Amino acid sequence: MFEQSISCPNCGTSIPFDVNILLQGQGFTCSGCDASIKLARESKDTVATSMEEFNKIKRNSLKA
Ligand SMILES: [Zn+2]
Repeated sequence: MFEQSISCPNCGTSIPFDVNILLQGQGFTCSGCDASIKLARESKDTVATSMEEFNKIKRNSLKA
């Protein structure tokens, strides 16, 4: 069970994903249109940084 999901850029279907798997270079397939969601190699650092920020925000809102 994945904690996160993203909307398919193609059809808008919610695709469950695990950012750690994305960071390992593996992709996910949209169940709606079979589009492949994969992280570009050069995006990895950006995603890692935003996930860090996201987790910070999540922790903070859980505290509140
Ligand atoms: Zn799709």
